Amino acid sequence: MTPADSRSTPVSPVPGAEDRLTLFDLPLDPVTLDHALTRLGEWMFRAHRTPHTVVTLNPEFIVQSRTQPDFVRAMQEADLVTADGVGIVWAARQLRGREVPRAPGYDLVKGLMERHGAELRVFFLGAKPGVAEQAAQHAVRDYGVQVAGIHHGYFDQAEDQRVAEFVGASGAHLVLTAMGAGRQEIFNHYWRQVLGAPVLIGCGGVIDVLAGTAELAPTWTRRLGVEFLWRVGLDRKRWNRAPRLAQFVRMVLAEKRRT
Ligand code: UDP
Repeated sequence: MTPADSRSTPVSPVPGAEDRLTLFDLPLDPVTLDHALTRLGEWMFRAHRTPHTVVTLNPEFIVQSRTQPDFVRAMQEADLVTADGVGIVWAARQLRGREVPRAPGYDLVKGLMERHGAELRVFFLGAKPGVAEQAAQHAVRDYGVQVAGIHHGYFDQAEDQRVAEFVGASGAHLVLTAMGAGRQEIFNHYWRQVLGAPVLIGCGGVIDVLAGTAELAPTWTRRLGVEFLWRVGLDRKRWNRAPRLAQFVRMVLAEKRRT
């Protein structure tokens, strides 16, 4: 589908789109990966480049945002909030009695690049200097996407506006913002009008995975939706995150007892 085709195509209803759930005062859209990709495709190629922010919710976001009102606001005002993994699926089952499909950040990014290939202009924002360049090269090689621009993710808040304007001038359809939980969602939300791209996704380690500097969790853990077991259990750098996951489990169980 070309951008011109999609402009004349009416927006298809996405099942579940009106069906937003709330988990700890944060929104969660119970959309399948396929439906999420369709909706993002529609946003990206509309004639009006209205910016949309996308959050892939995980347990760490919920725990971390308790002490970060800006992070809460960025999630509450996001246009699409998907369940990144099994922790959120479990919480939705416990607290809302609902089965929510998973649409993890890596699968969203890969799916968009697979679906739209050469018509897609992608801005790679984040990770250490050099890594986004590598990710962009691999994305061109593997999916044939256009590189709208590249910038590393290690800059001070004082430079936010300069970077946002640089992204805004690139004409990207899709901005991958991978600067760590909270920072990336707040940046996308606060600067969305300057960033200007129709889809802005906060996507954690996805640039590292595309670059090959971080491994994707093994397929079996991804199929079962238990990537966190691999990330927290087997990746020593992430052992410090286990307490946050334990806190999340305690929060969900306490909330369940209350309701
Ligand atoms: N990152 C960044 N700028 C920062 C902090 C992190 O660009 O100030 C990048 C980091 O290099 C990695 C990604 O953000 O590519 C995710 O980082 P990490 O796994 O530490 O964060 P999390 O998403 O787990 O909070």
